[in-house]
Amino acid sequence: MLTNYLNYLNFINNKLNKFFISQKPYIFCKKGCSKCCKNAKYFYSKIEFEYLSAGLKLLNSEEKQIIINNINNLKQEKKAGSNKNFVYECPLLINDSCSVYDYRGIICRTFGLMTAYNDGSIKIPFCAYNNLNYSNVIDTENEKISVEKFKKLNIKEEPLAFNISYEYLTDSDFEKLFNFQFGEKKPLFNWLIDYSKRKSAVSCDTRLCI
Ligand code: SF4
Ligand code: SF4
Repeated sequence: MLTNYLNYLNFINNKLNKFFISQKPYIFCKKGCSKCCKNAKYFYSKIEFEYLSAGLKLLNSEEKQIIINNINNLKQEKKAGSNKNFVYECPLLINDSCSVYDYRGIICRTFGLMTAYNDGSIKIPFCAYNNLNYSNVIDTENEKISVEKFKKLNIKEEPLAFNISYEYLTDSDFEKLFNFQFGEKKPLFNWLIDYSKRKSAVSCDTRLCI
């Protein structure tokens, strides 16, 4: 099943890479920029988390310890209840880099592009308001792409939004096409908590355990 998921992931990755290339004049992602990993819920399906776990197992003990500490801090934060909606900095972020980059889930691969929804609405990445992606074409007051700014840039590539919502990318049509199942979907933090509990019940040598 994981092999089939990897075929799907490969397919999606190729599409996303093409989208990123076509949007190059508007993309300002660079190493060390990790704002997109610091304030969300990060929904993951069961199979995505299964693949991510393979990446977690490859981390060294120091990295695992940092992640354990991050998760423990988040647990405290959640318990304190001050963060009602419970959006958080991803505990897998170490020194502003994703510790499991090659194993990251679908939503993490879409960060930075504009999303188009079926109802015709468009989501501009939040970092456009932080002088990052699409900031050179955004009309911040109206929260829209400015045709005027685009024209002033005098470039061929238009700023485009793509059908890359999590709902669409995890649609059952992809399950049928690639013969696998996404399974349950929930925030990454919840998966990590369940994973650590499950691991604590077994042995404790190379695993991420809390
Ligand atoms: S898994 Fe990696 S890319 Fe995804 S939110 Fe966490 S640190 Fe960021
Ligand atoms: S999507 Fe935005 S916040 Fe994330 S790395 Fe790119 S520029 Fe930075």
